Amino acid sequence: MVIVVKKDAGERRLNGLLEWLKERHVTPRVTVGEQQTIIGCVGDVSGIDDGMLRAMGDVVESVKRIQEPYKAVNRKFHPADTVIEIPRPGAEPLKIGGGFFQVVAGPCSVESEDQVVRIAKAVKAAGATMLRGGAFKPRTSPYSFQGLGKEGLVHLLTAKRETGLPVVTEIMDPRELEFFGDVDVLQIGARNMQNYELLKEVSHTTKPVLLKRSFSGTIQELLMSAEYILAGGNPNVILCERGIRTYETATRNTLDLTVVPLLHGKSHLPVFVDPSHATGVAKLVHPVAMAATVIGADGLIIEVHDDPIHALCDGAQSLTPEMFTETMKGVMAVRPFACGAKR
Ligand code: PEP
Ligand code: MN
Repeated sequence: MVIVVKKDAGERRLNGLLEWLKERHVTPRVTVGEQQTIIGCVGDVSGIDDGMLRAMGDVVESVKRIQEPYKAVNRKFHPADTVIEIPRPGAEPLKIGGGFFQVVAGPCSVESEDQVVRIAKAVKAAGATMLRGGAFKPRTSPYSFQGLGKEGLVHLLTAKRETGLPVVTEIMDPRELEFFGDVDVLQIGARNMQNYELLKEVSHTTKPVLLKRSFSGTIQELLMSAEYILAGGNPNVILCERGIRTYETATRNTLDLTVVPLLHGKSHLPVFVDPSHATGVAKLVHPVAMAATVIGADGLIIEVHDDPIHALCDGAQSLTPEMFTETMKGVMAVRPFACGAKR
């Protein structure tokens, strides 16, 4: 971190700033130039608040961070790709990241045992390697279907047993972690990306976490949220781009596909794309899934329902099993051409 000192700051204020930095265990190196005095900060500056420095307007002219505020998720300190392994009874563990590509599919919400088992079988037949299904649903309206809760988890785990597919489901409340013991991947939804108590709670397990980017979350904010989970001791995080909010209303969100190579550069964590929530329109899911695959996503998460018009949640963006089968064919056909593809 480099701090440019205001020309008329004076020695007393400059010394005050140097003391402030030292109190934060940073060694300031002052270079007095003809035009400008600058301070180079040596040491761990991750705990230094740039905004606080900028607010010291009588002594600080500007602040430039040379190093990112995230460490554990930073590729600079961990050059190799993280490969997450999900154990599967009677089979090789499922690998995510580092060239291993996976497709998660299933309904937005678990509606009944029959529904989730039926859809699980259909997505498995089409080639999905993991099953999704929300039991605890974050709904915009309190009058909408809120999910089956614990009962939904039971049905999802029945579908897991019947198909052998590992399951991904959303956790909304840190107090409910104990109910997710047999769940393979905990999803933290867009609305909870910065729910720090939830991030801290899942950081104390080693269960993989699918962390979705919020509608308004910057890339750095997404990485800082992932940092919470790694810093707390859980290295198994999958980042997920699911579209952000822009002025555009033709699609549910605006998919920021650029983040896939960008995140791969900044972090060693796997990156998934959710073409369902990104578009909100079933017809758009297929081409967007193909694009996400080619740009190098480590996986996709896609909503599938066998009766979309009667779905209790997100029917408009849900693929039928027939549509999903076609999408899987397209995705697997382009997968060998994907940036960074290995398997
Ligand atoms: C979901 O996956 O069903 C969901 C609610 O997603 P998001 O958090 O991205 O809106
Ligand atoms: Mn949904």
